[in-house]
Amino acid sequence: MEKEGSYYTQVAIIGGGISGTALLFMLSRYTNIESVTLFEKYDKPATLNSSAKANSQTLHIGDIETNYDLEKAKKVSASSSMVANFINHFNYEDTIGSRKTKMVLAVGEEEISRLKERHETFKTLFPYLELWDEKELEEIEPLLIKGRKEPIMALGAKNKITTVDFGKLSQTFIDLSQEETCSVDLNFGTEVTEITRKWDKFVIHSDRGEFMSDVVVVNAGAHSLLIAHEMGYGDNYAMLPIGGSFYFAKKQLLNAKVYTMQNPKLPFAAVHGDPDLTADWKTRFGPTAFAMPKLERYHNMEILNLFDLLSLDGSVLGVYYDLMKDEDIRAYIIRNFAHELPGIGNEFFIEEVQKLIPTLHSDDIEYAEGYGGMRPQIIDKKAKTLLLGEAKIDTGKGIIFNMTPSPGASSCLGNAFEDAKILCDFLDMDLLKRKIKKELCDEKEYCYINRQ
Ligand SMILES: Cc1cc2nc3c(=O)[nH]c(=O)nc-3n(C[C@H](O)[C@H](O)[C@H](O)COP(=O)(O)OP(=O)(O)OC[C@H]3O[C@@H](n4cnc5c(N)ncnc54)[C@H](O)[C@@H]3O)c2cc1C
Repeated sequence: MEKEGSYYTQVAIIGGGISGTALLFMLSRYTNIESVTLFEKYDKPATLNSSAKANSQTLHIGDIETNYDLEKAKKVSASSSMVANFINHFNYEDTIGSRKTKMVLAVGEEEISRLKERHETFKTLFPYLELWDEKELEEIEPLLIKGRKEPIMALGAKNKITTVDFGKLSQTFIDLSQEETCSVDLNFGTEVTEITRKWDKFVIHSDRGEFMSDVVVVNAGAHSLLIAHEMGYGDNYAMLPIGGSFYFAKKQLLNAKVYTMQNPKLPFAAVHGDPDLTADWKTRFGPTAFAMPKLERYHNMEILNLFDLLSLDGSVLGVYYDLMKDEDIRAYIIRNFAHELPGIGNEFFIEEVQKLIPTLHSDDIEYAEGYGGMRPQIIDKKAKTLLLGEAKIDTGKGIIFNMTPSPGASSCLGNAFEDAKILCDFLDMDLLKRKIKKELCDEKEYCYINRQ
């Protein structure tokens, strides 16, 4: 649609990962918004963190993720069940989402007692969870038992949608949005360089010209905060870019997703073993977690941008100091650097893997070249804390910025729903809640919209 010499759109979305494409789908199918334009700097969607090679492909629910407390599990399950329901409603089982067994494994008496306690607390939220003793585990995943000296127990579920190809899901969101009456413009290979205001509109400056829009949502992953800072928003946030890598077993060892119990002191999720959909379900272990001066794992960045994001003032350095003064966290950081050492990282990483499969040796695993991504972890400078989940800056002026470390892919439709509500209020358009409820919610499961 052309207007005043520039291309005009009602809604501009910056970023064609899972967050941007989920919003495109939400707006085109479930609102009466007339035009949406997506800007993505690479020539196809989901080439960064949303690619199946970058993340663990887990549909996070909060049932086996012991790094979530009950409140967080309620919130994540409400949101991620929309993805499971989408897969069911639109018939994408096996092509986008796969049913598998999943579990969290407790090793040793202390972890077993924590696991049992957790089950008591979480069983109302997740009534399908079962405790499996060694005898049951021997049948489900015998390699977890073989050669093990300590007692183990697991909490898990069978036949749930656990593994999702978020890259394929992004493409599918785009395809479906193009079938709607809303005018959808896709600008791949278009990098947004600046966003400014002109009268009551936003001007999207890009390497392929200028565009105008009424509202903007910036879903540019690690770049969202950078764009916010350039526009004078989000000064109370800094970023700690955390890289995550993986190791492959040389063959398929596990049929189930097997998570391990979280050390409550550590900031990032413990290592897990996952059947990988990009590698014929060969077992992938990880992710590691290490600070890295980059916003995109396999691309370089401008050093000035890095300094802007790190915002190294007293409050940010205070957060680093608090992290580093804890002995467990220090050891964890050093261990994670060792996991990245070329040629010998496997000698260190094997210790993590043996918690899952005791009989594996360092030469049974290899660094997963080309796999892994970046988690843009946010530091709240006012509260002087590292935020472990996602963060949103809603300016109230028609522009929203989303920062989406894990579980951002699982929460994509919940986040899109949240943004669609804000945009529809702002533009005085309709959000078709009944249709969302019918297609993306299952009355029995926790669903974002059921909880509104
Ligand atoms: C190691 C690892 C494991 C993970 N495991 C899981 C998991 O199992 N389950 C889960 O739910 N989540 C997981 N996550 C998190 C998940 O991958 C992210 O939350 C999710 O992919 C974020 O999607 P996004 O669309 O917000 O960002 P991205 O996928 O990073 O996409 C942002 C897009 O914006 C584009 N962009 C940036 N700047 C511009 C610009 N100026 N102009 C135009 N385009 C721009 C980029 O090119 C990119 O395509 C994991 C993350 C990592 C790193």
